[in-house]
Amino acid sequence: MTDIVTDRTARTTVAAQAPKSPEFGASFTAHMVTASWTADGGWSPLVLQPHGPLPMSPAMVGLHYGQVVFEGLKAHRRTDGTVSVFRPDRHAARLAESARRLAIPPLPERLFLDAVDLLVAADQDELQHVGPNAPALSLYLRPLLYASEAHLGLRPAREYAFLLIAFVTGGFFADGPEPVPVWVSTRHHRAAPGGTGAVKFAGNYAPTYLAQEEAARAGCRQVVWLDAAERRWVEELGGMNLFFVRGRGAGAQVVTPPLGGTLLPGVTRDSLLHLATRLGYETREERVAVDQWRAECAAGTITETFASGTAAAVTPVGSVRHGDAEWRIGDGGAGPVTLALHNALTGVQTGRSPAPDGWLRKVPPRR
Ligand SMILES: *Cc1c(COP(=O)(O)O)cnc(C)c1O
Repeated sequence: MTDIVTDRTARTTVAAQAPKSPEFGASFTAHMVTASWTADGGWSPLVLQPHGPLPMSPAMVGLHYGQVVFEGLKAHRRTDGTVSVFRPDRHAARLAESARRLAIPPLPERLFLDAVDLLVAADQDELQHVGPNAPALSLYLRPLLYASEAHLGLRPAREYAFLLIAFVTGGFFADGPEPVPVWVSTRHHRAAPGGTGAVKFAGNYAPTYLAQEEAARAGCRQVVWLDAAERRWVEELGGMNLFFVRGRGAGAQVVTPPLGGTLLPGVTRDSLLHLATRLGYETREERVAVDQWRAECAAGTITETFASGTAAAVTPVGSVRHGDAEWRIGDGGAGPVTLALHNALTGVQTGRSPAPDGWLRKVPPRR
C-alpha cells in the first residue's frame, strides 16, 4: 500500500477503498486472538490466528443465556509513525469487573495486554500513516469473553472463551465532530439500580434498539437515557457518557453525572475529566435533571452538551427533544469547550500533545 501524505489524499483514498474502512464495525482486520478457560486448566495460552468462524455448539451458554461481556478500545497511529493503544489497563480492569458481575472468570490483565500487543503488532499495517498534520485512522479493538460450554441448565458455565478482533475505523478529521439532535426516552430505560448498567454486558445493548428506532422516527440520532427510579436524572446518551458545560471561556465548568451503579464508567469520561482540569476548567460530578437541563439552556447557564466514548471521542449535542418540548444547546453547533476537549483527547492519542503517565501503551513494530 502506498504512503498517503496529505489529509485530502487520505480522505479520497478512504472513499476509494469503500466500503473497506468507513462503516463502523463492518470489516475486520486479518487476524484474531483466542484463548479458552476450563475449571481444571484455567486460561490456555493465547493463539493468534486468521480472523474467521468459531467452532460453536448449538447449546452454547453464551448464545442462549447471554453470559457474555465485552470491551472496546483503540490503537492509534501517532505522528511519529508508531502505534499505541489508549489506556488498555483501564479496559482490562473494566473487562474483569464486567466478568465478575456476570459470574465469568476474569481474564488476567497480563493476558489482556498480551492479546492486544499480539493483534495490534500483527495488523498495524492496516492503519495507514497519513502524515504529521493529518488524522490517522484508528484500530478499534473488541475483546469478548463468553460462556462457551454446551449446557442448558440455568447455572454459570464451566467453560469460557476469550476473543480479540479488530477493525479499522475513521480518523478524526479537521472539521471536528458533527453535532447531533437527541431524543429523551421516557418509556424505556437502559439501566436500573442493582442491574448491569455499570458493566459492558452484551445484553445491555440490543434492548436499546427499539428506543433508538423511536428517536430516529422523531428525527433524532441518539437516545438520552434517564434514570429508571425517578425518571428524571440524565444518565447517558446511547452508548456514551454525557457532559454539560456551564458558562464560557476560561471560567467554564465541565459537569458530568456521577457514577452511581447505573452509568457505565467510561475510560473517555475519566480521561476528559483529567484533561479538562489540565486545560484549566473546573470539573464537577453532579446529577442534572432533564427539566433543569432545559431550563439552564434557556437561561444560557448550560452553554454546551456533549457525549464521550471510545468510538467517536467526543460527540456534540445540538438539540434535544423531550416529549413535546424541544430545545437547542447554545447555537446548535459544536461549542468551544467541547472542541477544546476533543482536540486535547485526540492530541494525546495521536502524539500531538504529551500523554499523562501510563495512558499510552506502545506496541512493538512487526518483526
Ligand atoms: C462503552 C460505553 C461507554 C463509553 O465508555 P468508553 O470507555 O469511554 O468507551 C459509555 N456508556 C456505555 C453504555 C457504554 O457501553
